[in-house]
Amino acid sequence: MEFRIGLGHDTHRLAPGRPLVLGNVTIPHDVGAVGHSDADVLLHALVDALLGAAGLGDIGEWFPNTDPRWAGADSALFVAHAVESIARRDWQIVNLDCTITAEKPKLTPWKPAIRKRLSELLGIPEENINVKAKSGEAVGPVGRGEAIEADAIVLLRRERA
Ligand code: MG
Repeated sequence: MEFRIGLGHDTHRLAPGRPLVLGNVTIPHDVGAVGHSDADVLLHALVDALLGAAGLGDIGEWFPNTDPRWAGADSALFVAHAVESIARRDWQIVNLDCTITAEKPKLTPWKPAIRKRLSELLGIPEENINVKAKSGEAVGPVGRGEAIEADAIVLLRRERA
């Protein structure tokens, strides 16, 4: 077996009048993430982790935020594309661990729904996915509620050729 790990990180600004989409789950909140696509900070970190593990670059190269095709795009499309690209190279996803950092809202009640959706998008069991949530400890852009961040790490495996 060959193994590869991949790391992803993303940040989005928060503003009123935008939906807050995390892991393809829309969470009711008074502000949402600003971005060219649906600004799903968790899925963007996940795509970078997947691409990174497979040595396929980063989300900005695959889905430039200057491309009108991705305006308002559902970030699940980006994940599907990354999953397909790594599968084509015979990689299987072993597990995902991720952290969302936001001052508000409290994400604990949403973790099960996010985990379930990630399991569907990646085609791996929920037991192989972990979703963590942290606050910004009232400091910096996240702590002031100006931004939201996410980190993701994945492990891939494949049979050695
Ligand atoms: Mg992003």
